[in-house]
Parts: sequence; C-alpha cells; structure tokens
Amino acid sequence: MEKDRVRAALLHWYDAHGRTLAWRSPPGAPAPDPYRVWLSEVMLQQTTTPHATPYFERFTARWPTVSDLAVAEDAEVMAAWAGLGYYARARNLLACARAVAERHGGVFPDTEAELLALPGVGAYTAAAVAAIAFGRPSNVVDGNVERVVARLFAVETPLPVAKPELRRLAGRLVDEDRPGDWAQALMDLGATVCRPGRPVCDRCPLPSWCAGFQSGAPERYPVRPAKTARPHRTGVAWVLRDAHGRVGLVQRPEKGLLGGMLGLPTSDWSGTATPPQAPAATGWREAGAVEHVFTHFSLTLTVLEGVGDADLLWTEPEAALKALPTVFRKALERALG
Ligand code: SF4
Repeated sequence: MEKDRVRAALLHWYDAHGRTLAWRSPPGAPAPDPYRVWLSEVMLQQTTTPHATPYFERFTARWPTVSDLAVAEDAEVMAAWAGLGYYARARNLLACARAVAERHGGVFPDTEAELLALPGVGAYTAAAVAAIAFGRPSNVVDGNVERVVARLFAVETPLPVAKPELRRLAGRLVDEDRPGDWAQALMDLGATVCRPGRPVCDRCPLPSWCAGFQSGAPERYPVRPAKTARPHRTGVAWVLRDAHGRVGLVQRPEKGLLGGMLGLPTSDWSGTATPPQAPAATGWREAGAVEHVFTHFSLTLTVLEGVGDADLLWTEPEAALKALPTVFRKALERALG
C-alpha cells in the first residue's frame, strides 16, 4: 500500500469532513486539553457520540479540570455517570483523576507508557490521549479503526483472532506527521463512511487503495466468528413506597454488576435458584416487566410495587429517577406509570 498517498488522501478528507465534537480541536488547531480527551475517550468506549456528548458537557461544566474531578465525592460522580453504563469505568475515572492529581500534580503525563500506568487507562485510551493531546505517533486502534483496516487490507482472519494482525496493519499507516489528526481521521471515517454494515464507499477517499472495495463486497470485513446466543435471565425488582411516597433504594455491593451504584431491591438474577426475598411483608402488586440488555446477558425484570416500611434509602421519586442506572430507572418508571 502506498502509505504516503493513503495518508494524504485521508487527512485531506478529514480537514474537510471531520466531525466537530465537544472535546475536539479543529484540524490543524492546537491540541485539546488532555483531560477532555481522556474523559471523552472513557465515556465513548461503550456508548455512542450523541449519547456521550451531554454527559461530557455536564461533567466538564461541573468539574472543569482533572483536579476538580479528583476532589469530587464518589457518590456525586457515580450519580452523574448514571445512564452511561459500565459503572466500573466511573470508579476508574475517579481513581485515575486522583492519581493524576497526586502523582503528577494535576498534569496528565505526556507519554503512552506513563498514561498506561494510570489506573483504569488501557492501551487504547493511552494511545488516543498520547496522539490527540500530545502529538505522539501512537497506534490508536478501536473497533472503528479495526473495521476500516480490515476492509482496506481485506483481512480474512475472523475477529477476535485478527486483532493483533489488524493492529499491526494499522501501525503501518502511523507517522510522525499529524498523529492526532490521523487517529481522529480514521475514527471518523469508521464512524461516518466505513460504517458497520454497508460502507458508503462513494463518499470515501480511499477506494483506490482499498482491497475490500476492490473485492466487490467490503461489508464482508471484518470477518465475524459464528454467533453465540446471549443468555437470558429473569428477576424481580421491588418498588416500595413509604407513607410519604418516597421510594426505597439500596446501595449495591462495590463488586459486581452496577457495583457501588444505587439500585432498587431485586432478587438474585445471576441464574441461581435463590428464591426471591421481598424487602417488606406487604401486599405487592405487579406493575409489569421491563427488558434490559447487558453485555453478557439480557434480563427481564418483573416489577412489583407496594407500600410499607423497611431498612432502605428513602428517596423522592424524581431524585431516584435521576440517580438510578438505566435498568432500575426503567423499572421505577414502570411502577410510577
Ligand atoms: Fe471502507 Fe469503502 Fe472506504 Fe474501503 S472504500 S475504506 S470499504 S468506505
């Protein structure tokens, strides 16, 4: 592949068609604040740009620097994260902010190796921050980049076995010139043109060099392994109201799914045969059921509502709706009608 021509074509495309995002600097402008790059990358790891953007704006308005975030209360940050999923990330986010404040005086280190040594910072985030905020020629490979590279080189090895090969091929295109823009150009091409499903090759600057396009079936790449079904689980969520109309919540254990977050009392949904244990002896009424899909399983929660007293965290319904993770918010909404 003619590396220089491919790079020139994609960077030229990025200058004209790159996305304008809240955490970005325009092409050619001074690099953005590493705090904003890091925060956006953590938020974007498992969610979409439109979903993450309002969270990013709220976080940076409330905690404008990494030092501000480092001194935030855990519960405040967890509540602000509610709805972004993957709550272990919120805990790691705080641990990382505190490490930057304590070990580095509130200034993000500027090499991939030092970034990687921070809590919760993986290879992808370290490479992205190093390239975008510090202009380091690091190899930034996420799912979008894997897809573009798999198509460009028509890689026949199925995922996830192909990952090291895709990383090596992506690395062949990295260069000292405009590393941050290059990383973001590849991400943008993957997000807007070389999309999952059918790519829009007539809007792409790279078809002349793209083996996937030339094969006539670029959507075949990256090659996927045979699908395995996601297991389905069931459980019960109890919405208990007290005499003042407040909702009884629990603090979930630190370890495990939605660890450390507020939640509704629920039965065990881990697939064991533990019988459901209601939080209070009262007349329970079935309010329907809600569906939620987690990474490794899908869940149907039957929602039961009742009035009574128990040792719970009594919370006004509006405040509970704001603080609860999505699965519990859905259940509470179902009970509140
Ligand atoms: Fe993707 Fe098509 Fe561009 Fe190839 S030509 S990189 S398949 S959009």
